[in-house]
Amino acid sequence: MYIQHNWNFRSLVCGVNTKIPINSGEYVTAINFDNAATTPPFNYVLQEIVRFAPWYSSIHRGTGYKSQLSSSIYEASRKVVANFVNANLSSSTVIYVKNTTEAINKVARHLAGSPDDVIISSSMEHHSNDLPYRSKFKVEYISLDNKGRLDIKDLSNRLSKHKGRVKLVAITGASNVTGLINPVNSIAALCHKHNSKILVDGAQLIPHHPFDMSPKDPIEHIDFLVFSSHKMYAPFGIGVLVAPKEVFTNPSDQVGGGTVDLVTHDYVKWAELPNREEAGTPNLIGVVALTSAINMLSYVGLSKISAHELSLCEYAFNELNRIDGISLYGDTDIVDRVAIIPFNIDGIPHDITAKILSYEGGIAVRNGCFCAQPYIQKLLKISERDIEDRIKNPALPHPGVVRLSFGLYNTHNEVAYLIKLLKKIIKNKN
Ligand code: PLP
Repeated sequence: MYIQHNWNFRSLVCGVNTKIPINSGEYVTAINFDNAATTPPFNYVLQEIVRFAPWYSSIHRGTGYKSQLSSSIYEASRKVVANFVNANLSSSTVIYVKNTTEAINKVARHLAGSPDDVIISSSMEHHSNDLPYRSKFKVEYISLDNKGRLDIKDLSNRLSKHKGRVKLVAITGASNVTGLINPVNSIAALCHKHNSKILVDGAQLIPHHPFDMSPKDPIEHIDFLVFSSHKMYAPFGIGVLVAPKEVFTNPSDQVGGGTVDLVTHDYVKWAELPNREEAGTPNLIGVVALTSAINMLSYVGLSKISAHELSLCEYAFNELNRIDGISLYGDTDIVDRVAIIPFNIDGIPHDITAKILSYEGGIAVRNGCFCAQPYIQKLLKISERDIEDRIKNPALPHPGVVRLSFGLYNTHNEVAYLIKLLKKIIKNKN
């Protein structure tokens, strides 16, 4: 049971009072329950960008004062990121990328060796933590229990079966479809016992839940962590890869300016990590935004953020469970999850529900498969035959669900308003 606190985080976030038009012609305050896709920025992040703008200059190469200042801010930021997730900078490196997807592609290219090498992913992954491995490895998928959670016994069997040939176990920290959190530290222990490494896709976990890459028991440490700034109250365009330094033995997948120490026409000496992995002029403003967001998340405290969001989630589950004609998917237990709720109104296609919520109520949600089609197929128990039909006939409508995903600035009143509208939609349908 999560307690409803009097915390009010609304003033931290930009755009929470924006008025938008709805079908009735009225203007209403926009409600955003689509935080799993992208969060609005913190006001503090925007202020820090503006504050830094007069000092912003090209990094690493300039001798001008602003260049040097920019370079030192950029390099110092890696420690802020490392502290935030408790990464060990003596064995790992913090590399800036565009987003989670780019980070995982980078890992896949660096780990690729023999096509017989195995990567174990899971049936609940975002496509970004699945497709990058497919052309380079044999990929297997951890199966799920009937609540949509990982079957850890299945992972254990697969690790034993492959006897040390599993290069990586790549799993999400929290699902972007159901919000279910995986026990990544105990999975890490299992991987390490089998001489394998673990990658945690932290896109949905890092902004909503405390996370520790280096817990007390070293066997539980997380080898690779990836996440995106645009899901943590900073703008698009910057993401993080924390990875063991030992992985980067080959030249980077992207080379050019910034990645080298010495170049002749027939010789290249690559720069040290992490610069060797960041080709071209880096996204300094993105880094300023990211570190400001991290500072704000740390200031508020992830335990507090998680408690607030889960109290919204619990309230929504309680209300949704009481409405006849709503189907919920996956485990609805409030433990080990972030505040994401997938549902459908029986008899109304997911895209129509999402449109009604937007046009009638000014509520933004997401509908569809959320780049996790295999997981949706399992949650909705879609038959092999149906999937084959869809492969043959791409014009068939995609199955899917409606997704609510709460952020720290959402309120119980907003959830109550949503519930009222859902009840009205169901009443009008009957
Ligand atoms: N992994 C998960 C769990 C996600 O939810 C997302 C985005 O929704 C991604 C990866 C991809 O993130 P990005 O689009 O920032 O690369």
